[in-house]
Amino acid sequence: MTDSSLTPDIRKCLTRIADVSLDEDTTFAGLTTLHLGGRPLLAVRCGTTEAVAEVVQLLDAAAIPLLIVGGGSNLVVADGDLGLVAVILENDALELDTGSGLVRVGAGAVWDDVVAATVAAGLGGIECLSGIPGSAGATPVQNVGAYGAEISEVLTRVLLLERATGEVSWVDADSLELAYRRSNLKFTGRGVVLELEMQLNPDGQSAPLRFGELSRSLGATAAGERRPVAQVREAVLALRRGKGMVLEESDHDTWSAGSFFTNPVVEVAVADAVQAAVRAERGGEDADRMPRFPAGEGQVKLSAAWLIDRTGFHRGYPAEGAPVRLSTKHTLALTNRGSAVTADLVALAREVRDGVRDRFGVTLVPEPVWIGVSID
Ligand SMILES: Cc1cc2nc3c(=O)[nH]c(=O)nc-3n(C[C@H](O)[C@H](O)[C@H](O)COP(=O)(O)OP(=O)(O)OC[C@H]3O[C@@H](n4cnc5c(N)ncnc54)[C@H](O)[C@@H]3O)c2cc1C
Repeated sequence: MTDSSLTPDIRKCLTRIADVSLDEDTTFAGLTTLHLGGRPLLAVRCGTTEAVAEVVQLLDAAAIPLLIVGGGSNLVVADGDLGLVAVILENDALELDTGSGLVRVGAGAVWDDVVAATVAAGLGGIECLSGIPGSAGATPVQNVGAYGAEISEVLTRVLLLERATGEVSWVDADSLELAYRRSNLKFTGRGVVLELEMQLNPDGQSAPLRFGELSRSLGATAAGERRPVAQVREAVLALRRGKGMVLEESDHDTWSAGSFFTNPVVEVAVADAVQAAVRAERGGEDADRMPRFPAGEGQVKLSAAWLIDRTGFHRGYPAEGAPVRLSTKHTLALTNRGSAVTADLVALAREVRDGVRDRFGVTLVPEPVWIGVSID
């Protein structure tokens, strides 16, 4: 793909679509929370749902590669020139029904603004997802989750543009196969979420608390207690800030894509072997504290952060002055300290993945979407 594929005709058609603006200057370093990545052929900003649909239909019909971009908080993009158009979603209309708890929102809305608005309206169900960067439309893509909650618990349906046919229709959340950090939209380019609908709880109370650290910070002792939504939002934001998981321009620990690796799900025998290795090397007390959670028949979910740490990659690894480091607040975020390029990030990601694999025989899988570059 070269610039020539974006003919003057296509550009003219794009400029004729209402609520669309063309942005020739933006790079992915300016679009992503890692502040990394090169230049798209063109960036197209879409202010309404209709604009997003028309732009994607036009580019797909002309076979011009495109990337849907929300907040750029789950993207690792190659350095240099990218042969694709960045379609930036800015359709942010929000409708709340405080009586029924039904919420409908444009995909380009800032997710945390949506959470704040629902909490202010006394609607419960997404308060644990406070502070997650990015757009509303991306939340189903990897079934975002935090502090014991996932978007799948409240998502009823999405307005989806199926890219194979160009058709736009409401589809049930079930048809997206939402699972741990996955859906059939992630890594597939299947479709574009144009809007989404959630059923929240209008009684002003949070979803039942399920995450130990959060329950403790709210003084909850019994499993499944609920609290006023605003209280839970504040507690979640405080916990997240302590880990650099709320975006803060001046804090390089937040120049990241969030958790860089998903928590690995392994066979029970593999988990046992990891625990035995830790026991032999670090003693029984440390081995007994190894986080391991049942994850279905014969499967165990381990903590990627714990494995990275026990391999010897400490917070802030490798050292002050390096262009890319593990966050100084926890080991699961890879962070740009300000001068990095994507190649630096990929090198550290490989080193961490390979180190954990060599040490424990578990291959960590990156959580973000990679564009034009690969860890392999
Ligand atoms: C500091 C930090 C903390 C984070 N904490 C969490 C967390 O607690 N839990 C969690 O789950 N994630 C977390 N993340 C990851 C990230 O915020 C989420 O995955 C978020 O939903 C990504 O949204 P986005 O709009 O930035 O997506 P982008 O990065 O813009 O896009 C990500 C992928 O989704 C696709 N996409 C985006 N919008 C759409 C759409 N409307 N339709 C179809 N495809 C689309 C893109 O093409 C791309 O493939 C964190 C990230 C950071 C930087």
